[in-house]
Amino acid sequence: MPLDEYKRKRNFKKTPEPEGASTGSGQARSRKGPFFCVQKHLASHLHYDFRLEHDGVLLSWAVPKGPSLDPKTKRLAMKVEDHPIEYGDFEGVIPEGYGAGIVMLWDRGTWTPQTDDVDAALKKGDLKFTLDGYKLKGSWVLVRTGGRYPGARGGGDRSWLLIKHRDDWAGDLDITEFAPRSVKSDGDFEDILAEDTPAVWTSHRPAQGGETGAMLAKIIERAAKLKAERSDAPDATTRAKKRPSHKAQNQSRPKKRRSS
Ligand code: MN
Repeated sequence: MPLDEYKRKRNFKKTPEPEGASTGSGQARSRKGPFFCVQKHLASHLHYDFRLEHDGVLLSWAVPKGPSLDPKTKRLAMKVEDHPIEYGDFEGVIPEGYGAGIVMLWDRGTWTPQTDDVDAALKKGDLKFTLDGYKLKGSWVLVRTGGRYPGARGGGDRSWLLIKHRDDWAGDLDITEFAPRSVKSDGDFEDILAEDTPAVWTSHRPAQGGETGAMLAKIIERAAKLKAERSDAPDATTRAKKRPSHKAQNQSRPKKRRSS
């Protein structure tokens, strides 16, 4: 069962988080292709969870630095366990245990594999695809490195690189900096925390060291610090005006263009 590892790590009796139907509930949505999303996850380390719907689950990679629109900037992407498709809409708080922290839905949309056989491409370690999200668009590739990438820990076949192909959607705009907020709520981490009834997901698996309460406290502190740093920084739109990639700018504003 593809979601066994996911379920082992979580206790669904304690959480409103969807368990993941065995039948493809993702097909209930009307849309033009399989779902993809990127969840910005402020946990023990800030990272971006890149997820592609395939065969009834979300294939998942943790990308520490987030996607880059610059084809020269290859981003380490650690393959992690499959997630239920319904998880792709989650934004909220994981108070303790595995993944404790704050989850923001940073981008979502549809993806199209540039191959007829996704499983073969995954096995080969070379998956080319196009994205149609709010922030990420155009042609991309995930390439398995076989653990040779110097930044990779755990090695093996979990280590991949996420790379933008050169096309109209490529550019040197720093998309994580330029468009840091949620496509679901338009909020940042501290806004998600500050909601009257933030969505909460309780994980069953304890975090390392069991110091989860202390860790969440640190994460909340860090969320506040991130906000303070941002308000000190030069205006993001001013920076963006210097950038040549006007197309990337135009598509990176997370306005509510879709109803879902
Ligand atoms: Mn994560």
